Amino acid sequence: KEPQPFDVNSAVDATVKLLEAPLKALRVDLRIEEVDKLVVTGHRNEFSHVIMNLVNNATEALRERAVATPRISIRIFRDGEKSVITVADNAGGIPEEILPRIFEPYFTTKGPEKGTGIGLYMSRNIIEKGAGGQLSVRNTEEGAEFRIEFPG
Ligand code: ADP
Ligand code: MG
Repeated sequence: KEPQPFDVNSAVDATVKLLEAPLKALRVDLRIEEVDKLVVTGHRNEFSHVIMNLVNNATEALRERAVATPRISIRIFRDGEKSVITVADNAGGIPEEILPRIFEPYFTTKGPEKGTGIGLYMSRNIIEKGAGGQLSVRNTEEGAEFRIEFPG
């Protein structure tokens, strides 16, 4: 199937709605900051899966580390020519020594029962091979921040 233009804001809103119950159960305060309205060319369903993966990873990190005031913040904005979506949490971040490995297939710190280690690998493929974008990560003062970037 051919890539099609889709509305990023509505795709994010719809995906987060699907996750409302588990987020509420864990008392996660999830905010979406829609600075700009973005339309990008790609596959809406696959993009939604990436958002779901990132939010689920953040939720798992918040739970594992028993963060007292768990927060996830999604920001949708333009950066020059680029369309950017960031997903950030306050779970404390990713240890520097494993940071270079988290996008490898089957890399997980969750143990074989719980983690498959393919979420970020697949997410990167969807964004980079499927849509010509980039998926990157950095640690902030509070936690991990994943950044999806689309050209134009
Ligand atoms: P899985 O979730 O099955 O472990 P992923 O590919 O989704 O596999 O993630 C790989 C690893 O990256 C996780 O096991 C975890 O160690 C780390 N990770 C991903 N997202 C976060 C996050 N938001 N905070 C802390 N660690 C993270
Ligand atoms: Mg995962």
